[in-house]
Amino acid sequence: MPSNKSVSDAPITQFVSCRILRDHRLQREDLWVREGTILDPEKLFFDEQGYADQRVDCEGGIVAPGFIDVQINGFHLEGPFISEEKKGAHPERYLRTFQSGGIGDLMETYGSLDNVAMVTLAPELPVSQSVVRELCQRGITVSLGHSVANLSQAEEAVQNGASFITHLFNAMLPFHHRDPGIVGLLTSDQVPAGRTVYYGMIADGIHTNPAALRIAHRAHPSGLVLVTDAIAAMGLPPGRHTLGQQVIEIQGLHAYVAGTKTLSGSIATMDMCVRHFRQASGCSIEAALEAASLHPAQLLGISHKKGNLDYGSDADLVLLDDALNVKATYISGEEVWRKGP
Ligand code: ZN
Repeated sequence: MPSNKSVSDAPITQFVSCRILRDHRLQREDLWVREGTILDPEKLFFDEQGYADQRVDCEGGIVAPGFIDVQINGFHLEGPFISEEKKGAHPERYLRTFQSGGIGDLMETYGSLDNVAMVTLAPELPVSQSVVRELCQRGITVSLGHSVANLSQAEEAVQNGASFITHLFNAMLPFHHRDPGIVGLLTSDQVPAGRTVYYGMIADGIHTNPAALRIAHRAHPSGLVLVTDAIAAMGLPPGRHTLGQQVIEIQGLHAYVAGTKTLSGSIATMDMCVRHFRQASGCSIEAALEAASLHPAQLLGISHKKGNLDYGSDADLVLLDDALNVKATYISGEEVWRKGP
């Protein structure tokens, strides 16, 4: 009998025979979940004398926080206030610059900023620095990308609140030792104290060479955020497909703007990127998983609920084997996908 009447009598699930990612390491512990939230088992036992209503046998697997992809196309507003020179797959006729209106130009383009978590812009565009400030004041994460900014323009944007770099190395100036450009933010001494600049990397083995991935990771491991940059073609077979205003061509793991060799986002999945990142960087399993969970949650300011398996966090879980293949996924403690036999 629960000693406290206010305690929920909703069913409790106990994940057993697992290693859970908590406090930056895999720990042999069970995970307790009720009403979509991770429970503190000590409180459950001693305060409530609670017990599990059902058990999930993880068969020795890893339980990690649910992956968070901050760059999946159609979510995160990437452009159109970006550099013509580094437009990547973005059609040139739709690119825009800020007029004197600044944020007004954004509203005119997007219609509304409700439900917008992140905007990518090029900080060298006129008026962009005040747009960075205004967006950050509205709680929107500002990311720098598709840009020819030099390091001091990038640092100014960070001082104005920008906190992310969109697909590091792709669609920005290549690293130059006299002006390392946006890439230089990874080791900049102009980042305000207590702030972390995060950076997205498409670790699909195509968008970034493994050596570049290692350089970034070793220079600034705590800022690395794995992103897929996946377009709607993810999961489609090879050949030509029309997506919105563009025709793209899938060849193996590559998605090109049809008839060119310009990459049009990726068709990689997050678990593929986690495995590739681990292999390419030689990092620990914990570091690979945190780059897909904890770091993006910190970037978005939601790490009090997401991106970790702390007591009180949401029970969004990924069950994996030791080679980091996904065996099952859970949202709010409910199984939503399981790999077939
Ligand atoms: Zn892009």
